[in-house]
Amino acid sequence: MRARPAITLTALLATMLLHPAAPTAAVQAPAYSIDAIRYATIRAFPVASLVIGAPRDERMDIAMVVWLMRGGGRTILFDAGFHRERWLQQFDVADFIPPDSAVRLAGVRAADVTDIIISHAHWDHMGGIDLFPNAVIHIQKDEFHYYAGEAWQEGGRRGGIDTLDIIALVRRGIAGKVRFVDGDDVEVLPGIVAYTGARHTYASQYIRVGGDEPFVLASDNCYLYRNIEDNAPGATFDPADRPANMAAIARMIELAGSTDRVIPGHDPLQFQRYPATGRVARLRSR
Ligand SMILES: [Zn+2]
Repeated sequence: MRARPAITLTALLATMLLHPAAPTAAVQAPAYSIDAIRYATIRAFPVASLVIGAPRDERMDIAMVVWLMRGGGRTILFDAGFHRERWLQQFDVADFIPPDSAVRLAGVRAADVTDIIISHAHWDHMGGIDLFPNAVIHIQKDEFHYYAGEAWQEGGRRGGIDTLDIIALVRRGIAGKVRFVDGDDVEVLPGIVAYTGARHTYASQYIRVGGDEPFVLASDNCYLYRNIEDNAPGATFDPADRPANMAAIARMIELAGSTDRVIPGHDPLQFQRYPATGRVARLRSR
């Protein structure tokens, strides 16, 4: 039997500094497939609300989308869409099917969705969480706190927030099924990292799905390909956040390693640029 070599504390520290532990998550991260699923269209939406500086009278049909990732034994949604009647009345919504029926078209039963990462608390992104009863909801801690509290105080900003969605979120939290994502560059699930700073809402987040060809799913932190191409920000929590929104879009391109792999939140072109069958576009196979 060989004697165990003596290691001094200094030598040990030097070894740790020279060879920092590899990020194990990156090694073990599953290869997720990624699908974009279109559950509705909003017709004739004013482009100037999506691309600051666009002509006032320009309008376009926008896609209403949830994104599905499968891998590592998990079925994950990025955003949950909406289904409440109030919003169907308020906007010119076409081709609507509830998000739980939409994911069925990709072969997923609502009850089998394990996780939902919520980009931000607006009605068309968080309004569908109650359709997926077993999912754990991952949301920025500051987004949760602001829209469950301060937003409803005097001077609070609550445009686009549906009280019923907040109640559903709090209820899910009481059931022990909400996980707070605390800040920027945080791994939410193996291989899926959340980033903040674009400030579409109080603490909106976007995600990078790792792999040989990483994807960034922007949600409304970058509405359209035009935000990238025209170098124009989208709507932000406050107009003062516009430079931060642009900086975040530049960062998204860097994180994806390619402009092509940054997927905007409401752009119907994602269903043309990637192979689509009906409402489902395959962004990446496993
Ligand atoms: Zn939206």
